[in-house]
Amino acid sequence: MINLVLFGKPGAGKGTQANFLKEKYNLKHISTGDVFRYNIKNGTELGTLAKSYIDKGDLVPDEVTIDMLKAEVEKNPEANGFIFDGFPRTNAQAEALDELMTEKNMKIHATIALEADDEVLIKRLLERGKVSGRSDDQDENKIRNRFEEYNEKTAPLMQYYKEQGKFHSVNGIGSIEEITERLSKVIAAL
Ligand code: ADP
Repeated sequence: MINLVLFGKPGAGKGTQANFLKEKYNLKHISTGDVFRYNIKNGTELGTLAKSYIDKGDLVPDEVTIDMLKAEVEKNPEANGFIFDGFPRTNAQAEALDELMTEKNMKIHATIALEADDEVLIKRLLERGKVSGRSDDQDENKIRNRFEEYNEKTAPLMQYYKEQGKFHSVNGIGSIEEITERLSKVIAAL
C-alpha cells in the first residue's frame, strides 16, 4: 500500500498529476476540492456551507473538511492506497490525517510538493477559470486570497512533514509528462 499527499499552491497541478499517478500506481484519488464542488453542484447541505467559504477564496472550516475526508477514506476500504489532493491544508488537518492513518493501520509514505511561482500560477488559474467556470478562479483578488490562505495556514505543513522525513518537492514547471516523470522518480525511490 502506498499513500501520498500531493502538496502545492492553488494551480500547481495537483489534480492533473493525481489523475496520471492514480492510474500508474492503482491508487484512489481523493480531492477535497472536487468533493466540495460535487456537493455544491448537487445542492447538499455540505455544499451550501462550503460554497460560502470557497466563493471568497477562504478555506472551509477544519471540522467540516476533516469529517468529509474521513468519510471518503471509509468509502474505499479495498483501496490499494490513496492520493490525497488538497488535504491536509492546515495543521489540525495534518494531525487528523495522521490519527486516521494510525487508526486504520495505514501511514502516509510521502508528501510531494509541486513548486511554481505565483505569477505563473495566477495565469494558469485565470485560464482554468475561463474553461471551468469556477468562481474562485475568475477573480485575481480571490486567487490572491487563496495564496494568502496557503502561505499562512498550509505552508507550515512543509515543516511538519520534513520533521517526519517525508517531505519531497519537484519542479512543477514543464510539460505534464515531464512532471509526472519527476513525481514517479520520487515515488520509485520511496
Ligand atoms: P486549488 O488547489 O486549485 O485551490 P481545490 O479544488 O483543491 O483548488 O480547492 C478549492 C477550494 O476548496 C479551496 O480554495 C478551499 O476553499 C476549499 N478546500 C479544498 N480543500 C480544503 C481543505 N483541505 N481545507 C479547507 N478548505 C478546502
